[in-house]
Amino acid sequence: MTIRFDNRVAIVTGAGAGLGRSHALGLAARGAKVVVNDYGGGSGPDGGTSAGAEETVALIRAAGGTAMAHGADVANPEQVADMVARAVRDWGSADILVNNAGILRDTSFAKMTLADWEAVIRVHLTGSAICTMACWPHMKAANYGRIVMTSSSSGIYGNFGQSNYGAAKMAVVGLMNVLHIEGAKNNIRVNTLAPGAATQMTRDLLPPAIVALMEPEAVTPGLLYLVSEDAPSRVILDATAGGFARTVIMETSGIYLPPEDCTPENVAAQFAAISDVSGAEAYEQGGQQVTKFITKAATALGVSLG
Ligand code: NAD
Repeated sequence: MTIRFDNRVAIVTGAGAGLGRSHALGLAARGAKVVVNDYGGGSGPDGGTSAGAEETVALIRAAGGTAMAHGADVANPEQVADMVARAVRDWGSADILVNNAGILRDTSFAKMTLADWEAVIRVHLTGSAICTMACWPHMKAANYGRIVMTSSSSGIYGNFGQSNYGAAKMAVVGLMNVLHIEGAKNNIRVNTLAPGAATQMTRDLLPPAIVALMEPEAVTPGLLYLVSEDAPSRVILDATAGGFARTVIMETSGIYLPPEDCTPENVAAQFAAISDVSGAEAYEQGGQQVTKFITKAATALGVSLG
């Protein structure tokens, strides 16, 4: 099965460099018309363009593909609305959205200012929400949408000095979870990519031998699968240096403490049983967790839930 994007319109944010550029080139090479977003220095309400975005567009066109640049700041609703309107006006739809734009403001939490915090949350979390909001009605109307959030091992597991970034990167997983549920009836599939690549964001931190292994192009095949016709939904795909894995959030079966034993000491005493992963499950929605606990309590107490 060959994955193609003919007649699909894709918007890739932060595609003037790094992973976003690689994703945009990959989509265009397989037939998508691509809006190459990256905020330009002077981007106004009509959307300026950055040199990076123009360069990506030139690379796509040189390879025979179709692309337009747009310089919206992903966290500016007017500029994003203009970007999506242009895609729909010129090409008729907004089928694929890759929320990739990102920035860093690394510092230990002790030294972090509210400005550092807000700048990162604004681009990664609010920017992903704003771009998704702008595409959502078009996807609903078309009964077709493929959306990817970009997370990071820094959010999933933590990295020193990245509390703002880590929080934002895990927040987009929460956004995915809900959009997956809300989009399902309209064939809108929402996934998350957790990439690792040598880009301007990371290159200086990595030894040359590792830089050579961590090309963005070794990540993009994972992204292309996540936005394909037969894409899964609600998947966190990890992709680095040609390695692909899946992060799965699971919950242990847990224990039940009857009212007379429901004390912090008993939680401590049973912590090994609480943590036992042998019966762990991945839930489809939050309510399943409540159902599990209510069922345990009702069974132990002989209460009928009838
Ligand atoms: P990059 O710096 O090469 O590219 C990010 C692009 O986003 C830049 O071109 C930048 O101009 C653009 N951008 C930033 N803020 C924007 C805004 N408000 N509006 C529009 N464009 C904006 O970085 P990258 O490494 O290619 O990162 C791409 C994504 O992958 C980011 O979300 C990043 O957090 C994530 N990520 C990267 C790595 C990695 O190892 N490189 C690891 C985990 C996650």
